[in-house]
Amino acid sequence: MPPDHTAYIETLAHVNCGQCDEYWGLSDITRDDLTGTEWSCPHCGHKRPMGEFVRGDGE
Ligand SMILES: [Zn+2]
Repeated sequence: MPPDHTAYIETLAHVNCGQCDEYWGLSDITRDDLTGTEWSCPHCGHKRPMGEFVRGDGE
């Protein structure tokens, strides 16, 4: 039998900068990894911790 495909489910955090509102993504990351540290926006360099965790549908 020919070999099956393999699948890997990636967790992706969608981040919007609090300063410039540009978007970037952080893959393979948990909520715990995201909290308790500061992150620099790759667009404008704004460095802040993550604030709210919002739902993907914008609610
Ligand atoms: Zn920014």
